[in-house]
Amino acid sequence: MEMLEGKSVLIVGLGKSGAAAARFCRRRGATVRVSDADAGPEMEQKAVELEQEGVCVELGPHHESTFVNNDLIVVSPGVPITLPALIQAQQQGVRMIGEIELAAGFIDSPIVAITGTNGKSTTTELAGKMIEASGITVFVGGNIGNPLIEYADSGDRADVAVVEISSFQLDTIDCFRPRVSALLNITEDHLDRYADFNAYAESKLRIFENQTSDDYAVLNLSDPFVADLTKDILPRRLNIRQFEQEIEQWFSKPGFGAAFANPPLPGAHNYDNIAAAALASAVAGATPEGISRGLENFKGLRHRMEYVGEKRGVEFYDDSKATNLDAARKAVESFDSPVVLIMGGRGKGYRFDGLQDTVKNRVKRLVLMGETRREIAEALSGVCKGGHIMADTMERAVSYAFESAEPGDVVLLAPACAGFDMFSGYAERGDRFNEAFRKL
Ligand code: ADP
Repeated sequence: MEMLEGKSVLIVGLGKSGAAAARFCRRRGATVRVSDADAGPEMEQKAVELEQEGVCVELGPHHESTFVNNDLIVVSPGVPITLPALIQAQQQGVRMIGEIELAAGFIDSPIVAITGTNGKSTTTELAGKMIEASGITVFVGGNIGNPLIEYADSGDRADVAVVEISSFQLDTIDCFRPRVSALLNITEDHLDRYADFNAYAESKLRIFENQTSDDYAVLNLSDPFVADLTKDILPRRLNIRQFEQEIEQWFSKPGFGAAFANPPLPGAHNYDNIAAAALASAVAGATPEGISRGLENFKGLRHRMEYVGEKRGVEFYDDSKATNLDAARKAVESFDSPVVLIMGGRGKGYRFDGLQDTVKNRVKRLVLMGETRREIAEALSGVCKGGHIMADTMERAVSYAFESAEPGDVVLLAPACAGFDMFSGYAERGDRFNEAFRKL
């Protein structure tokens, strides 16, 4: 546990978790400053509120002097840890951690921590439902919903905390030790923030670094890459790809695995998420009945393979959260029918050639939008039966896609890119897709 009374703490980044961390430290007697490079009106408003609580806020360019004279720096996941002012402060002996590390020190509940390139939010929410349906009190949050530090601050004490953890959050842990960790998958993402794919993978592996042989890790051990990377970790490994055997063994309940044969969420990738959620919940104390009930009542999350509606025999699906290659690939491969695929947005440093096989075999036509549209056309149009068409708004994209589809086809929004180029993010992009469908 971090001793905060009388300490000088700098919070870098005034997002949701940064603001919560600032309040947390202030309430525990620290002198708190916040630094954020964004000086926009929304930030100004947040700054005014925090200053009323005795926190000093600096917006605009970071000053090195603000960084060096501290006992502790709490850095937000949106801020690159390669920021020169952060490096300089560390060189001068200032301890730097993230909000997860800070929060975990104040929480007694066992933690279930879920990471991976894709499927974190779905698995985290589902595990929460399974544990809750078992009569166990649970906090669900982290990188989704409420930050862990808010839970630590609230004084509420749940039996278990289930937290989604991103690679950026893992970059700033120190002693963070989950009782159960889950690493769902590692595929290309965030290459705009990491030196290369190995650096990104290394970051994900940090979830195991403080676990002991008393703890558990839920993994896809049928992926040779994950199996090899995790062969020397201390926690006991449970394989999501041998889910039925694993869960039957855990509960000594032969035949129980068969109850999951017809899962309510579409796609093989969601079966991985269900398996991971069920195994992690089981270790955290959930019952077989709770796990089954939690799954039955889970409707999936918005903008993740969400069924939007049907028009003249064409079904529309919103997977706006498919912000990287593997998520888009899994989305397309979830359908047996031909897919008209709406793609494009803000790139993250990877190439699109990796989708050639999927597009060649399953995509009828590409509708491309956003900053990466030309790059995607170059990489994929040649292998797509119907080539591509460019659209400059979501409304046009949806109507071109509809015109390109025949009864029995699927129109899918799975951009393989972030949405910050044309929208506030994936959620607004998905909302606009839904609206455009309704206007057809
Ligand atoms: P995350 O929180 O890791 O971004 P989400 O559950 O929000 O994960 O899903 C993000 C995207 O990844 C969605 O497009 C979803 O359809 C896709 N997805 C979900 N689970 C998986 C998985 N296990 N493997 C690949 N893609 C997945």
